[in-house]
Amino acid sequence: MTPAITIGPLAAEPGTRVTGLVPVDVGTTTLHVPVAIVHGRRPGPRVAVTAGIHGAEYVSIAALREVVLGLDPAQVTGSVVAVLTASPAAFAARSIYVNPLDGLNLNRQFPGDPDGAPTRRLAHWLTNEVIAGADAYVDMHCGDMNEALVSFTGIEDTGNPTVDARSRELAEAYGLRYLLIGPSPGTTTTAAAALGIPAVLAEVGGQGRWPRDDVTLHAAGFQRVLRAAGVVADAPDEPAHATQVLPTEAWMRATTSGYWHPAVGVGERVAAGTVVGEIQDAFGAGLERPAAPMDGVVIFLVTSLAMNAGDPLLALAG
Ligand SMILES: [Zn+2]
Repeated sequence: MTPAITIGPLAAEPGTRVTGLVPVDVGTTTLHVPVAIVHGRRPGPRVAVTAGIHGAEYVSIAALREVVLGLDPAQVTGSVVAVLTASPAAFAARSIYVNPLDGLNLNRQFPGDPDGAPTRRLAHWLTNEVIAGADAYVDMHCGDMNEALVSFTGIEDTGNPTVDARSRELAEAYGLRYLLIGPSPGTTTTAAAALGIPAVLAEVGGQGRWPRDDVTLHAAGFQRVLRAAGVVADAPDEPAHATQVLPTEAWMRATTSGYWHPAVGVGERVAAGTVVGEIQDAFGAGLERPAAPMDGVVIFLVTSLAMNAGDPLLALAG
């Protein structure tokens, strides 16, 4: 008899879906994290998935809820363990980048610390209770409230050829426009890599919106990953475009605070040396005119007029 899958007080027997709020003690407070476990009737692989690591990334949250709450356990082989909104305090606060409990970016705190600040404790819980023990892991993101992006997946280069090849297969199954390969310290996928678990980051949409086309694109990609993992038999067709691998990436950050006037568009290909925009003071004087450090595609672009020293302006990949 296959044992139940448990996360905190939730226990899903084979052939059932169980949903509920799981209490997570983060030191200063207890979070109530929405979790869904779909335990298939037939034994098989376990896929762990998170959305809302950043609380205002709504396309990912909407898409994951739609897929997981629509799965029929009778049609599932193995299981799906889904954290529907991984940073509930950030979601409630509509917070950009950080968890309002301590001002830390959750996706820089992995694998976390059981004795650390609240966000580090939350990362530790996610690493040990959700990601560990999975056969594959998917982390669904989108551009934050202040970001536009082109759809892409990201995987690590862990040096373990079996794990890396599997991550690549799952990313290609997701079928987004670009695939970025490289290290991302402190993130969920790095924590999964340390556990030997194939993992994919997936990004669609942004700017605080969750239009139907973006939700459908994200949901369909995740469903194709579930098919590639052997969890479901059916998934939407592959998109018409080919996935293009972009092996190098450069983030550009502001060195002064002010008013951000980008001169390039998201998805645009720019040459090294191109001035990508201007940061102005309150009265229109130019403070900074940053230039692209490499040839590449604008993968994400901060679209808020407000800009702070140290914040990202955009990222290039090529
Ligand atoms: Zn994110």
